Amino acid sequence: MNPKISTTKLLKTVIAENYCSGCGICTVSDQPAFTMQLTENGQYLPQLISNEYLSKVVCPFANEQPNETDIAKKLYKTKETKFNSEFGYYQNIYAGHVITGDYRQYGSSGGSVSWLTQKLLDDKMVDYVINVVEQNNPFIRFKYQIAKNPKANKKASKSKYYPTNLEEVLKFVQQNEGRYAIVGLPCFIKGIRLLQQTEKVFDKRIVYTASIFCGHLKSTHYLSSLIAQFSIEEKDVKHFDFRFKLPGRKAGDYGTQLITTSNIDYVKPNKELFGTNWGWGLFKLKACDYCDDIIGETADISFGDAWIPKYENDYKGTNIVVTRHPELNDLIQKYIEKSELNYENLSPDELIQSQAGGFRHRREGLAYRLYLQLKKGKYVPKKRVKPAKIKSKKRRKIYKIRMQLQARSFYSKHYKDVPKLKKELWPLIRQLQTVNEHSKWTKLRLKFKQWLKKK
Ligand SMILES: Cc1cc2nc3c(=O)[nH]c(=O)nc-3n(C[C@H](O)[C@H](O)[C@H](O)COP(=O)(O)OP(=O)(O)OC[C@H]3O[C@@H](n4cnc5c(N)ncnc54)[C@H](O)[C@@H]3O)c2cc1C
Ligand code: SF4
Ligand code: SF4
Repeated sequence: MNPKISTTKLLKTVIAENYCSGCGICTVSDQPAFTMQLTENGQYLPQLISNEYLSKVVCPFANEQPNETDIAKKLYKTKETKFNSEFGYYQNIYAGHVITGDYRQYGSSGGSVSWLTQKLLDDKMVDYVINVVEQNNPFIRFKYQIAKNPKANKKASKSKYYPTNLEEVLKFVQQNEGRYAIVGLPCFIKGIRLLQQTEKVFDKRIVYTASIFCGHLKSTHYLSSLIAQFSIEEKDVKHFDFRFKLPGRKAGDYGTQLITTSNIDYVKPNKELFGTNWGWGLFKLKACDYCDDIIGETADISFGDAWIPKYENDYKGTNIVVTRHPELNDLIQKYIEKSELNYENLSPDELIQSQAGGFRHRREGLAYRLYLQLKKGKYVPKKRVKPAKIKSKKRRKIYKIRMQLQARSFYSKHYKDVPKLKKELWPLIRQLQTVNEHSKWTKLRLKFKQWLKKK
């Protein structure tokens, strides 16, 4: 049995130091002491609602809990699975997309997540799917829902770079008998696994877990800053899409779409929108800089984008799929044979290559960030990556600037006034670009030297 921790301790560590991803797992206990609240910084944080001493909880960021490798080992170490030191246990790795229906057209990538959740409902493997949907509320635009039918499931497709939490839906699970599948970010699924170890009801009712790969999560201010660049009021937006596919472009070169309440449809390529460069990490939650699970190692199945040259030219999008649960692995194989899925095998190296930036930032980068925090005498969450002062001076500079950009953008008051936001952040962005340009020149110089040697 996995230990629960006191809410007092959680308040003094994970929450006080802002290593909280806002998952809401800690609101579900015998005597709940917390409820989730959206703060003025646009992130969910637990708020005390009763005497903290009464309650004991689990939290994916608490040092007392088992790590992702330990959790996954218990669930998936079998003769059929292999282990990779970068991304844990897996049975098969695929790249591909859904052929049938319009899953790919309406999906962020190859449409596989929405296809799988629909298949689980159609084949009566679950009664409900828990996923994230857009709602008609400018203050909370996306939230978790309980989907029972194709219409609700379809409405949940597409990636939302926007905070959500599990409080409401987990309370529904607690109170309503049934078999549930859940789609979540890696830290949310880790939280579910911890809950399943401590609360029987979740172990019994949540029968499948699917994770999406995760680079980082944004505060609500990211969405506000994008809407501001269309010169439209947030209240006048009825539909927002972070991942609008642009025909003829590369899969990663997508746009942002919004439809107003008067039905005017606007699309802008992300390259024209300030703040969409993922490497800058604007409005990123601090927790994400201290997270070492990129693909959702504790989930039954994980889905990401195949950001590698052989798939990138297809603007319609291609998934990477990692299976762990034997039943879901069989289901995928069955539908590959039935030609519903166009999947081919992918090697572990290709998976890592497709998320190269994410792995570097959360391995080498995380080691350095932990080292810096410990040097200042700060509390840090225990990670599988060990704190270390990395060798490369340039990489150290990059990680330091990124930390400053995260903090400056996250707390900036100018998220709706993009010219002011740009002015505030530009000195740091310029520094980051300069270091990166230097790195490029150094690489080119080295290549040129090697070429000269060979001649
Ligand atoms: C915050 C975030 C960061 C990501 N980072 C990466 C990354 O670094 N590398 C990478 O390869 N892929 C990343 N992804 C995943 C990627 O964007 C696609 O979601 C994934 O490839 C699945 O595509 P699809 O077409 O199969 O999904 P679709 O069929 O479009 O379905 C998407 C599913 O994800 C769920 N979902 C959407 N947003 C959220 C959310 N915020 N929290 C929980 N569930 C959600 C939806 O409800 C739906 O079930 C990220 C996604 C998010 C939300
Ligand atoms: S990470 Fe999740 S469980 Fe931990 S404190 Fe935050 S909301 Fe609660
Ligand atoms: S980067 Fe990690 S901590 Fe942040 S949302 Fe994704 S899984 Fe959670």
